[in-house]
Amino acid sequence: MDSALLVKQVNLSMIPEIITIPLRHMASGDCLSLQVYKFRGSQPGKKVYIQSNLHGAEIAGNTVIHHLIKFLQNSKDTDLVGEIWLVPVCNPIGTNERSHHFASGRYCTYEGKDWNRIFWDYEKETNDLSRFVQSQLQFPVEVIRKNYLRKIKEKFTAANQVTQSSGIPYTKKFRYQLQSLSIDADYLIDLHSSSNQGLTYLYYFRDRQDSAKYFQLDFGILLNKYDGDAFDEAFIKPWLALESALQGLGRNIQFDVEAWTLELGTGMQINPKSVAMGVWGIKNYLVHKGVLQTPIDSPGNSNSHAMSLKSRTTDTRYYAPRGGMIQLQVELSREVKTGDTLYQIISFNKEGKLPTVINIVAQQDGLVYDVATNQVVNEGEYVLATI
Ligand SMILES: [Zn+2]
Repeated sequence: MDSALLVKQVNLSMIPEIITIPLRHMASGDCLSLQVYKFRGSQPGKKVYIQSNLHGAEIAGNTVIHHLIKFLQNSKDTDLVGEIWLVPVCNPIGTNERSHHFASGRYCTYEGKDWNRIFWDYEKETNDLSRFVQSQLQFPVEVIRKNYLRKIKEKFTAANQVTQSSGIPYTKKFRYQLQSLSIDADYLIDLHSSSNQGLTYLYYFRDRQDSAKYFQLDFGILLNKYDGDAFDEAFIKPWLALESALQGLGRNIQFDVEAWTLELGTGMQINPKSVAMGVWGIKNYLVHKGVLQTPIDSPGNSNSHAMSLKSRTTDTRYYAPRGGMIQLQVELSREVKTGDTLYQIISFNKEGKLPTVINIVAQQDGLVYDVATNQVVNEGEYVLATI
């Protein structure tokens, strides 16, 4: 075959580069690792980073990534512009943790930290943003993006030395590994679910509502109130801060940098509908962003609705006012009105009296989007949420 023919050859299936990264050496002598599947298209373009299972019980995203791996394997390299990096089971400690039958891996119990509140946030570390913005005003967007990313990476490397002779806490090494894989991505997708029973929706950030709708999930929640040091926040907050600073000096720029947390249904379960919605939503998003060039199958009429967008400030979480047994009066996805009964508590006592039933009503109108799996509560424990 002559070289001209070779150049024209299209790979009818893509083979990912698979990188295994040692993560933690355990007391038993075993070693935990991360594994990254890197698919690269025939043309350069955006970098997409997708991970799943940062919280131990939130497993549906692993199945979504498996579907994406199969889909990309069966695609041509000309169908992909840029690259997609996939990291399933991104937190092996969390994934493997059990308490009897239950997957309880939301926290690093050794350090007492939520696995998704540990990430390094450049915005908190930088104090020369206004000086940087002044120096960039005359440059085109792409040059500003490159210069800013270089600054983030330099500071990230300096602030996250993982090879100190005195050693570092594990959460710092863990965050370093995940953020060093993703810090230069254009689009970042973190796949979660409820730890309890939840709908299929996403969290999105300021000015990204048009892209949010490409996912076509049940609804989207604007993160206008931060949890602090979550994976998606730590990734995008520096870019939002840069946009605000530029705007303050009269340049309106929106960088094509986006972060999403998808919530794929119920914890400890792989709900086929949530998985199908997640897979289709991600593909549809990537088609609209020009990363995937393939037409994708329509999911049918059920997904053809306009995705509704909500604000986190209307989120109401209900906590038990007394201990007892929960009798749920509403189910997931119910729209409730102020004053509707949400649940009842059968409350026992040790005062020589008969048990009582307490009625809990909705404080405001909203959609029931998350419900506790456990129907027994101590006072102050979580029961359900509306938005
Ligand atoms: Zn989570």
